[in-house]
Parts: sequence; structure tokens; C-alpha cells
Amino acid sequence: MVQNEKKYEKAMNAVDRFLKKRGYSSYFTVFLNGYNNNHIYISFNYVLKIKAYRMVWFDLNYIDLKHMDRYISEQIMTSFAANKLVEGITSLKIKPGEFFKDDILGDRVVIKNILKDGEVYAFDRFLPRKWAALIDPLVLVFSYVPRSMELFLNEMFANFDNTTEMYNTRKAIKFNPDKDKFEKFFGEMERDKGTKLYANSRVSFLEKLDDKYLAIVEDVEPVLVVVHQVNEEFTVLWCSCPGKKYCAHIYAALLAIKNKSFNNFYKVRYKGDNFTLLDRVRDGLFYFCFGVNGDTLLLISDNGGITSSPIVENGKCMFEVIEDDDECSLSKYLEKYDD
Ligand SMILES: [Zn+2]
Repeated sequence: MVQNEKKYEKAMNAVDRFLKKRGYSSYFTVFLNGYNNNHIYISFNYVLKIKAYRMVWFDLNYIDLKHMDRYISEQIMTSFAANKLVEGITSLKIKPGEFFKDDILGDRVVIKNILKDGEVYAFDRFLPRKWAALIDPLVLVFSYVPRSMELFLNEMFANFDNTTEMYNTRKAIKFNPDKDKFEKFFGEMERDKGTKLYANSRVSFLEKLDDKYLAIVEDVEPVLVVVHQVNEEFTVLWCSCPGKKYCAHIYAALLAIKNKSFNNFYKVRYKGDNFTLLDRVRDGLFYFCFGVNGDTLLLISDNGGITSSPIVENGKCMFEVIEDDDECSLSKYLEKYDD
């Protein structure tokens, strides 16, 4: 899949021209194309005028092509590190190529080795094992850019320390919950348990809000499942439990979606002005509520997790019910606090 490559190609060409004009000779570039939603162009250069090596990087999401000098970030390299890098990239003995995966959304890395006829190595999300020789050059490059970019590097190397599953959490997979089969994502144990949870009506709430399905699955404790349709083709599957990435709760929720077993959440509005009580409370904003536990309401927080909040503050009921079930259960429950 081409991911806005044309748009960023223009910016990168402009960067290249800008650096050339300054007397920089580019040897090696790394382009993070939509990697964790970042578009960052890193270029390793030799500057003849000052006889020094420089690592330069641009955030292409914010660059203004007319005032490039304001957006350039650079770091001078020790000649020891620079020589190591030059040595590494001139002696690379791997075949250039592309490892694009159509089941991955975003997270593309494009490496160009200008010292070797502009050879290009491109891959989606994880550096392929057969390109292990790129590890040392990449580590050197990333040791000269801000530490926050280390995260990308660790993720790129996940194939080598078997942590791909960890980085895949909360990433989109090629799947449309309204059309596609989902069984293949789950292990046998998760399928069995998920089927039981669904059959025993443990998917207690299921509602679609914009591009997200939200479900509460009552296991030992209630958990929140979010099925977020990023676009027609891609979806993020997420559960608040600490278990496996594709757990029984997600399986149960997907069965409920497939069978259209909707059951709307209660909606409540917070009446107080105690802004520290909940993450963020704006006028008119309502919360998804999935029940009560004694004197607290069980809510879905703004950041998509499960939270709870006391019903009463300073002797007053702090919540107004905006949407109830057919029996008005929640309104009736809250009535007793309304004296
Ligand atoms: Zn779960």
C-alpha cells in the first residue's frame, strides 16, 4: 500500500536539495513513513567545509518548505562513530528490496544507502531477520537523534527479541468486523472461553459509537473491549484485561457484534464542578455507564478504560441519567440519593 508516499517524497526531495545547497553530502537516510503516525526523515551527512559528519533530521509533519532552516535539527557526530557508520554501510552485503505487508497499516521504514548506489531497504513495522546486518548502522543513526525515537528502534528490532506481539497491541489489523471472519486471530482456549461468555450473556453491554464498538464483558471482573474501525479495511482490537492480546473477551464481543446483540450503555452526566474527580469533564459531556457498585457508578473513562466515581459528593447526587434502560433501573437506583 502506498502511504502518502508522494506527499512526503516532495518534502524529502526539498530537504535533500536544501542540504546539498548547504554543502552537505548525504550518505545514508532513514525515512519513518507513518511509523507510529510519525513522518521523520533522518539523513547522515558529511560536510566538506568543516570536515565533519552530521546527523540531520526533519519532522515532515511540521516542516515548512519555504523556511527549512527553522525546521532542521542536527547533531555533530564524533569521527569515530561516523567512520564506524561509513564502514558499516559501505560493507553491507545484503540485497536491497521491499518487505511490505498488506496486513499492516502505516509503520513503514525506508532506508536508502547512498554510498552503495542508492540501494533501498524498505519494510513494514519490523526489520526482517534476513536484514540483521542493518542493526548496527541503525543503532548508530538513532544514537544521534532524540531519545524519544528509541521507541521506534526498539519496535523495528522486535523480530530479533521476539517482542512483536507486545508492539502489535493497539495496532490496526486487516479486519472488518462487519464482514470478515475473526476466528483465525484467536487460540482454541480463547475461542472456547469466548463462546461460553457470549452464550451465558456475559457481554452485558454493546454499543456502536462513531467508528467504535464498545462492549463490557463480565468475567471475574468486568472488562472493556474496544473494536475500533480505523477504516474500511483495518481495525484495532483491544481489551482492558492484562491477558493475551487476542483474548476471550474480544472473541465474545465479536460474537455479539456478529449477532447484533446490542445493549446500549446507560448515559450519565456529571453535575459537579470538581474537575479533578474524573479525567476531564466538560459541560454537556456524558459518560457511558455500565452499572453501579454500591455507592459508585461504573463508567468508561475518556481515555477508553474502566473507571468508577462516587455517586454522592458533599451529600449531593452528582449524576443525572440521560439514557436509561426500559425499566429505568438506573434512575430508580439514583432516586434514593436525591433527598
Ligand atoms: Zn480481555
